[in-house]
Amino acid sequence: MKDKLKNKVFKYITEAAEQLNQETYVIGGYVRDTILNRPSRDIDIVTLGNGIELAEHCARKIKPKPKVTVFKNFGTAQLKYLNFEVEFVGARKESYRNDSRKPIVENGTLEDDQNRRDFTINALAMSLNKENFGELIDPFNGLKDLAQKIIRTPLDPNITFSDDPLRMMRAIRFSTQLDFEIEAASLQAIATNRERIKIVSAERIADEMNKIMMAEKPSVGFKLLEETGLLNIIFPELQQMKGVDIVKGTGHKDNFYHTLEVLDRIVPYTDNLWLRWSALLHDIAKPATKKFIEGQGWTFHAHNFVGVKMIPKIFRRLKLPLNEKMKYVQKIVKLHMRPIILSEDEVTDSAVRRLLFEAGDDIDDLMTLCEADITSKNPEKVKRYMKNFKIVRLKLKEIEEKDAIRNFQPPISGELIMEKFGLVPSREVGLIKDAIKEAILDGEIRNNYEEAFAFMLKKAEELGLTPEN
Ligand code: ATP
Repeated sequence: MKDKLKNKVFKYITEAAEQLNQETYVIGGYVRDTILNRPSRDIDIVTLGNGIELAEHCARKIKPKPKVTVFKNFGTAQLKYLNFEVEFVGARKESYRNDSRKPIVENGTLEDDQNRRDFTINALAMSLNKENFGELIDPFNGLKDLAQKIIRTPLDPNITFSDDPLRMMRAIRFSTQLDFEIEAASLQAIATNRERIKIVSAERIADEMNKIMMAEKPSVGFKLLEETGLLNIIFPELQQMKGVDIVKGTGHKDNFYHTLEVLDRIVPYTDNLWLRWSALLHDIAKPATKKFIEGQGWTFHAHNFVGVKMIPKIFRRLKLPLNEKMKYVQKIVKLHMRPIILSEDEVTDSAVRRLLFEAGDDIDDLMTLCEADITSKNPEKVKRYMKNFKIVRLKLKEIEEKDAIRNFQPPISGELIMEKFGLVPSREVGLIKDAIKEAILDGEIRNNYEEAFAFMLKKAEELGLTPEN
């Protein structure tokens, strides 16, 4: 395994450890990822002794000397070497109480430190000591689990998950990111201990959920969350989408699996976490708006608007940002049916202009979601929609080039209207401004000053106003 430790920083650490006479190892995620040939920028160093002293001694060997950031309360220290973040900590033993995922910590051996790790694949250590540099210390057969693509806890999974329930989210996240199976007893223990998730902070849960969202196939994680019963606790709105109602022999599609399919389908086209969130939430109000109407079948009237209203509560609970990121998600959810409705009719210029006006710079993201939203198994249908979307995209481009509607700024300002007709801020000013906007969106006039000015004069005349100059 020596060849896995080519990074020069390990040479400095080994020298420093030798001089301080401290046994030292690289441990955890870095070892796992290096064996899997996955890039990793976080290096965790564990030493039998003082981690902060080792970090400082090591930093003195590097030119130029990097800054060492010390976290006294945790007994850890961190330094940056090139693009790597190296964290030093003394080996520790942990014991847990029932009401908190924060353990009582005391100094321990390497074995103690490996015992406190969450999964066998995360408990691997490699020696940074002169006499056996690069040797793998693998007490739980983590290497074998890496090869067989298995997530398994080193000790009794019921204790591991109950001690720190965040590990349940981590198991599912690693399974999704790495495409590994969670071993049966560990999976069962997640289901058994699911209620324990309630002692984990919303931020940590959301962190893991975001990592699941950014994986290549997020559906894997959400299906596991559902199967283990975690989803119902942390994200009941999503849970409620599962299932199919049948009335008079007519069922609707299962919106949970449909949503996950849309999410997976959007992944290759975007790394934007918030567009992925929009995919996850686009139909979130379908359960709340579901109705069977005789002669019409299942309807989900206004589910986009109801969805927009549900989003703040979900974001607040998950401690996701309540700023422009949320507004973006709301906007995409609100508009997500527009392109498809548009493409079902003849695609008129004015409908395209209105869509561009409302979506602004997010129009491409909206189209990306709509294309991912076509999950029909009927190839003819898929072909038809895709063809129509192509026409919509072409029209969007054409209209945008001609009319510059995307970031619409009214060519005539309220001030100009007031000045021209000697008005104070009033209903008339709003009426004229609105009429100009509508005329542009309807294609009656083009989006420029001259045509808007002429239109303003006409409109003002209708309202009985005469220009002052
Ligand atoms: P990633 O960087 O993708 O999050 P990682 O495994 O490097 O993966 P970190 O959170 O940086 O994740 O943790 C580093 C190591 O610390 C892990 O490999 C694991 O050994 C240990 N660890 C982290 N969190 C826990 C936990 N909640 N319980 C037990 N061990 C943990």
